[in-house]
Amino acid sequence: MRPFHVLSVFLSATAVAVVVMAVIVMAGGQALAQVNADPTPPGTLHPVPLPPLADPNSPTVAAKDLFARKTEPTSGPARSIGGYADGCLSGGVALPITGPNWQVMRLSRNRNWGNPALITFLERFAAHAKHEWNGLLVGDMSQPRGGPMISGHASHQVGLDADIWFTPMPDHVLSAEEREMNGATNIVAPDGLGIDPKIWTRNYLELVRTASLDPATTRIFVNPAIKKQMCSEAGSDRAWLTKVRPWWGHAEHFHVRLACPADSAECKAQKPPDPGDGCGAEVESWIKDVTRPKPPPTTPKPPHPPMTLAGLPPACKQVVQAP
Ligand SMILES: [Zn+2]
Repeated sequence: MRPFHVLSVFLSATAVAVVVMAVIVMAGGQALAQVNADPTPPGTLHPVPLPPLADPNSPTVAAKDLFARKTEPTSGPARSIGGYADGCLSGGVALPITGPNWQVMRLSRNRNWGNPALITFLERFAAHAKHEWNGLLVGDMSQPRGGPMISGHASHQVGLDADIWFTPMPDHVLSAEEREMNGATNIVAPDGLGIDPKIWTRNYLELVRTASLDPATTRIFVNPAIKKQMCSEAGSDRAWLTKVRPWWGHAEHFHVRLACPADSAECKAQKPPDPGDGCGAEVESWIKDVTRPKPPPTTPKPPHPPMTLAGLPPACKQVVQAP
C-alpha cells in the first residue's frame, strides 16, 4: 500500500472513531446518544411533511417519530414535564423568528419552541448581547410539544434548552434562504486543543458569562477548548465558570440550559454542577478525550432500540396525543 493509501485508511478509521466517541451521554446521568459531528447542517427551503405512521398507536413506535409529527403545541398553561433528555412540553410558546436583538435560524426545523421561561430568558439575554454583538442567532430550542427529536439532540425535550450560534447577528433581517443555508462560526482550532486565535475575541467570554450569571440558567455547554480559554481569561472573577460545562461538539454554538421553573412541578431537575471552576485537570482531561478518540469496539454493539412513550413520563403520552 502506498503511503497516501495508508493515510486515507487511517483517516477513515479516525472518522469512525470520532463518530463512535460522539455517541455519548448528555443528560444528567442518563445514557442517551448525542451526535455532535455536524451541529449545524444546512436546512431546506422546501420542508416536506413527514409521512403518516402506519401504526401510531403501536407500543413499539419511537417517541421521536410521534413528537416530530406534531407541528403545533398543546393549549393550556405551560408545563415542562420530565427530564431534559426524557420529557416533553405542554403549552409551548414560540420564540418570534425576528426580535429586536435576535433571529431564529433553520426555520424548516420548527424547533423555536419553549417554556415561557426560556422565551423571556432569551429576550433579556439577547438585549444584553446587543452590548457585545449586534444580537443573537438562535438555533434549536424544542419541538412544539418537546419530546425526543429525529435528529440532532438527546436533550432539548422539555423546552428549557437553547442553542445559540457563535456568530454575531448580521446587521440585516436574514432572508429565509440565509436562515437555512448560512453556516455557524467554528471558534475552535482544527486540532481541538484551543480556540482559533484568528476568530476568538473576549466577546465570546462576556456573552457566555452573562448567560451564566442569569439566575434562570443551570448549565452552559461549550467545547472543552472554549472552556479552557475562558478559564485562562477569567482572572479573579471565576464563580460563573461553574455552570460552564465542557462537552463534545459545541464549537459552533453554545447550549444554554435553564433550571426547572417553579411552576413546572413535573420537571425533573438535574443535579447542580460540581462546585469549583472546573478549570485545570478537569478541562484538560476533557480536551484529552475529545482530541484522542479511542479505537472503535471490535464487535459493534447492536443499536439501542429508540425510546418509546413508555420511556417518558405518562403525561407525555397525553401531550403527544392531544389534538
Ligand atoms: Zn443544544
